[in-house]
Amino acid sequence: MSTLIACHGCDLLVDVANLPDGSRAACPRCSHFLTRYRHDAISRALAYAVTASVFLVIANSFSFLSMSAGGLESAMTLPETALTLYRFGMWDLAILVAGFIVFVPALLLGLVLVICVPLYLGHPAPWLISAARLLYSIQEWSMVEVFLIGVVVSLVKLAQLADVQLGFSFWAYVAFSITFTLALTTLDRFQCWQMIEQVQKAAQP
Ligand SMILES: [Zn+2]
Repeated sequence: MSTLIACHGCDLLVDVANLPDGSRAACPRCSHFLTRYRHDAISRALAYAVTASVFLVIANSFSFLSMSAGGLESAMTLPETALTLYRFGMWDLAILVAGFIVFVPALLLGLVLVICVPLYLGHPAPWLISAARLLYSIQEWSMVEVFLIGVVVSLVKLAQLADVQLGFSFWAYVAFSITFTLALTTLDRFQCWQMIEQVQKAAQP
């Protein structure tokens, strides 16, 4: 099995064989991060992904934030953020918001689970290669942290106009974004492909 990795920064081929547990490799020429080896990366990623899935369900089920001003009160759930945009005729923006904050993260979590479960059990699965390829090609399209920063910035503005209360779902979404980011970063790209190759080689007669 090849242990050579091409640096994304400068294309230098680096041998990352025999990395100690918990250590990371960086390019000797440009210091670009290459890979991080952890013997329990799969079980960690699996635990983070399951936890993130629970938080995502909770984040979509309760009040995200509520506002009151001049005797009027309104509460909003996470799916309603996109639905409200749709009701105001901004259907294209509604699709983008729903896609980037709920559907793409949910798809990524699903992919992490379908990759990690067979790798954890040591059983090769026919979808491993296509699932890993899809995971690493759409990973950049998740805007979970961008959405959270946007919410915090708009809260500062809203607080001057109305009394804003953060709902249970807001905190669940914060917990989701942390566990979701940990699940994705724990499943190191190079190590994941190495493990897929190992599992498939071990199953060959
Ligand atoms: Zn480099």
